[in-house]
Amino acid sequence: MKRALFPGSFDPITNGHYDIIKRGIKLFDEVVVAIGINAEKKYMFPLDERKAFIKKSFENEPKVKVVTYEGLTIDFCDKIDAQFILRGLRNPADFEFEKAIAHTNRKLSKIETVFLLTAAKTSFISSSIVRDVIRNHGDYTQLVPDSVRIDK
Ligand code: ADP
Repeated sequence: MKRALFPGSFDPITNGHYDIIKRGIKLFDEVVVAIGINAEKKYMFPLDERKAFIKKSFENEPKVKVVTYEGLTIDFCDKIDAQFILRGLRNPADFEFEKAIAHTNRKLSKIETVFLLTAAKTSFISSSIVRDVIRNHGDYTQLVPDSVRIDK
């Protein structure tokens, strides 16, 4: 079974992530969306909420699983038998950043990183911009899947 891990913070999931996952399931038998736990990072949404948003977005899609993990992404891939890491690329800055990580992961393991270029219509979206819009009471609903609704 071809299994890909899609790691990230997903704070919160955006239409950009959604697009990558949707396209990922056409390439792989299973896409495991993996929320990395980083004790040093401050998040807007608690882990269980971030997980619930993603689960709800893909409740009718059996090829998508949602998990949380700690530690090295490649170690977690080994643990769940994922042969691929899936990542999205928006711009040259993403590319430079992702290139270093992918090379390191290749050095340390056999896991291949597969990059999908963002859809043009979601390429400008980032979780940090979404958080800014939310914080300032803007209409974030056009930037995220319907499952992301905040009653704050
Ligand atoms: P991280 O903490 O790793 O930056 P994110 O949740 O921000 O986690 O992103 C996870 C993955 O989703 C990364 O591969 C990132 O490039 C990709 N991604 C983020 N936003 C978009 C977008 N608008 N379109 C496509 N891919 C995206």
